[in-house]
Amino acid sequence: MIADLNSAEKIATNEQYDVCICGTGPAGITVARALAAQGRKVALFEGGGMEYSELSQNLYQGESVGLPYWDAVRTARLRYFGGTSNHWAGRCSFFDKVDFERRNHSGLPGWPITREEVFQFFDAACSILDISMEAFPASRAAKWKGENFRLSDRAHSPPTRFGEKYHQELKISSKIDVYINANLTNIRLRKSLDAADSLELRNYKDQKFLFSASNYVLAMGTIENARLLLNCDKQIPTGIGNQNGMVGRCFMEHFNVEIGRFVSDDSPIWQHDNIQINPSEDLIRKLQIGNAVLSFDRNTSPASYGRLGKLRQTLREAVCKSSLATDLSRNMVDFNCPGDGVISSLIEQAPNPDSRITLGPERDMFGLRRVRLDWRATAADLKTIRTLGLEVAKEMARTGIARVQLKDFILDNTKEIGEFGQHAHQMGTTRMSEDPRFGVVDTNLQIHGFKNIYVAGSSVFPTGGGNNPTLTIVMLSERLGHHLAKFRTG
Ligand SMILES: Cc1cc2nc3c(=O)[nH]c(=O)nc-3n(C[C@H](O)[C@H](O)[C@H](O)COP(=O)(O)OP(=O)(O)OC[C@H]3O[C@@H](n4cnc5c(N)ncnc54)[C@H](O)[C@@H]3O)c2cc1C
Repeated sequence: MIADLNSAEKIATNEQYDVCICGTGPAGITVARALAAQGRKVALFEGGGMEYSELSQNLYQGESVGLPYWDAVRTARLRYFGGTSNHWAGRCSFFDKVDFERRNHSGLPGWPITREEVFQFFDAACSILDISMEAFPASRAAKWKGENFRLSDRAHSPPTRFGEKYHQELKISSKIDVYINANLTNIRLRKSLDAADSLELRNYKDQKFLFSASNYVLAMGTIENARLLLNCDKQIPTGIGNQNGMVGRCFMEHFNVEIGRFVSDDSPIWQHDNIQINPSEDLIRKLQIGNAVLSFDRNTSPASYGRLGKLRQTLREAVCKSSLATDLSRNMVDFNCPGDGVISSLIEQAPNPDSRITLGPERDMFGLRRVRLDWRATAADLKTIRTLGLEVAKEMARTGIARVQLKDFILDNTKEIGEFGQHAHQMGTTRMSEDPRFGVVDTNLQIHGFKNIYVAGSSVFPTGGGNNPTLTIVMLSERLGHHLAKFRTG
């Protein structure tokens, strides 16, 4: 069933649910379906409608006071049925063994569960994301002749749009009731203050509804999961789950920094016109750096347009024939040659408690304080970026696959890294940790100190690895569904 909370007269809120879930992105829909498959009754709430609306999206508006972040956090996610999967790109990859090792991240522990525990749900996640193990091009790894890097193991989801794919299934489901235009605005706690009693949800007509269940799951994305917990300050002034001040801390992204340029040779490895490589696990361990994917995208035929297009093209062709002329010319003006390209990156950011989400002074239409993001990079992050730049240049020289020209800031520590781009992979604000001093949720994704409140999504990642997050989000959400299915109401 899909019901609209804006049509309040048709809504009965006295239904008893096993689990109430907030958010219909990959995390929320996956938890709901896993529970329904095991016979549990679920209420699934979506703050937006079935389509994009400014009214709903505007609730994501916030401020960014650290490293510049996309349009102050508003555009890097989508607030309607299906969540951000409505415009994700579908790149799927998974954490390496080294990502799960207990490396010391400035005193913070890493993953408290093993890679195997997460990978139990790999097949289920592949089916949800419309990929298969065969879609991961691991076989190409053998073609790489270098020592310190390897070809990336990434598969491409179509990309799966969760709203579209699961609309019909949810509409006819007898186990899942979906409520749209249902904005979670508060979690009411029992008198004991150690468990949720009910959820307060609001539509866009200034009406409030209470729903209750045995267990509750927040699956509203990394920023909103933390923002909501901090805003639940009526019964506990510091917010829910924030007894150790950890909610909102360790906000992580994947850095998208341009490391330099390259000129490729004509080796068969370039048959797809681009290659993506990861540092080897040994290199990560040896140099104590983060994980990453470095992308070499070749220009096949650089654009040439405008009144002087033909002349520019002729000059470029002449200059591109000589590497000396190319380097000299680039000192004056930057341009592309066929077979050239820039080296872009997806680089792990180490968890840092000062990189964080707090609440700003502004309030949204429901009276909730808007988000303030202070995204920061540390010396460890700069080391990762610079070391990877140097190592990849060496690897390319050794293998002869490309000639690399690094950016000044890689070679010279005194030069600032001009621009830290991002990938819309928000992670870490309710991190998983066995010890409540270092995280917000335990290994079952239950909020420390609260019996029946759970969190799904990449906000629980203790570290971000060098991979796209959604496949892991889906595996963890499937795992949470299986865990919660053990409990039955009444
Ligand atoms: C342009 C772009 C490209 C991307 N490409 C990739 C990629 O190639 N590979 C990859 O792995 N990842 C990619 N991502 C990231 C990916 O989209 C996210 O990892 C994924 O969508 C996170 O899923 P989620 O369910 O945790 O959160 P979301 O998808 O953000 O879902 C959160 C849901 O919660 C709802 N919600 C929010 N607040 C409330 C509230 N108060 N009450 C009720 N409901 C609420 C929202 O409306 C939404 O439906 C990309 C992201 C962007 C922006």
